Amino acid sequence: MILTKTVILKIVNPDNDLVETMQKYSDGMNYASSVVFQNGKTIGSYKLQKIVYGYLREVIGLKSQMSCNIPRQVSGCYKTLKEQIKERKVIWKEITFSPYSMTLSYKRDFSISQDLVAITTINNGRKPYKIQSYDNAQQYFDGTWKFTASKVVRHKDSNHSFHLSIEKEVPEKELEYSSNYMGIDLGMNYLAVASTTEKNCRFFAGGHIKDIRNQYMSMRKRLQSKGTLSARKMIKHLSDKEKRLMRHVNHMISKQIIKFAIENKVFLIGLEDLKGIRENKVRKVRKDKRYHQSSWTYRQLQDFITYKAKEAGIKVHFVDPAHTSQECNRCNHISNTNRNRLKFICKKCGYENNADLNASMNIERRTRDFGYISLSQGCLSATQTNA
Ligand SMILES: [Zn+2]
Repeated sequence: MILTKTVILKIVNPDNDLVETMQKYSDGMNYASSVVFQNGKTIGSYKLQKIVYGYLREVIGLKSQMSCNIPRQVSGCYKTLKEQIKERKVIWKEITFSPYSMTLSYKRDFSISQDLVAITTINNGRKPYKIQSYDNAQQYFDGTWKFTASKVVRHKDSNHSFHLSIEKEVPEKELEYSSNYMGIDLGMNYLAVASTTEKNCRFFAGGHIKDIRNQYMSMRKRLQSKGTLSARKMIKHLSDKEKRLMRHVNHMISKQIIKFAIENKVFLIGLEDLKGIRENKVRKVRKDKRYHQSSWTYRQLQDFITYKAKEAGIKVHFVDPAHTSQECNRCNHISNTNRNRLKFICKKCGYENNADLNASMNIERRTRDFGYISLSQGCLSATQTNA
């Protein structure tokens, strides 16, 4: 099983050379992109390189390695576009690249140590830049991780960061089959509620997070009504702050959830499938408006849970999210009047429970149903690879 991660490192001393390199690099990407676009269909990377190489080298003035990277990346982007067209998500269009992001190949365009990243620049060849060394980043430089294509990102405030992509092959954990499943409901009152087949449950509260986020929201609303440039800047600043806060919180919560799952020897974790469905359906499923507004943080939390589960050798399954909060866990009666804020009271059988816990129990049951069916068909085994 291959684990992949992106480690974000701050570049301490970015300079004009770097800015210019990113500018020229995006010029090159946009040139190659226009060639493919005008061609009306995708061009393989080798053929595209033959077409654009001279222009990239002589007119734009890029180094040879970058002039090889660009056609490969651009060709890849159009291949992805073609797949999206097949799925009828988009139409044929010209892809544009911004000078705010540059993808580099490891060794060919950059090398890195804990404190320095050396990047090939337009004017001064391979040039070292200091990176802020974070304690939690040190573990990725222990020699066990492989570095892969990574990105330099320039932020609107002129700060630069290096998004180091890394991977590591880890042995597949052979979990013994256990009949304990776990369902996780993500919500507003509690960030997550987990329950298992053996009726263990845990509430993961976000503490004062809800209040902070509400504060952010009301501040944003006030600023939005002003509509001035400085108000817009302030809004951006606030949402960046909120994003960082939630990222941290989601890391903590997902860690605790997986710890709970390991302690309970959980075989399969169930989450609601929010990814495959459109925003408006999320809204339908979740009447709570605030849930819709912050659906990105739920997706992020799900991603973190999935990733950490994989690390722990626990499988994750995504269940149909329809009515998970309106269905009675005892008699399966579905009604939107069953739920009354924090409390779930079944209109049919009178079953009472905490509303989020009831939802997580429904998710657990759906996950268990999936597990039984898959196991009986031999599609899910304890040692199946989790690719
Ligand atoms: Zn009931």
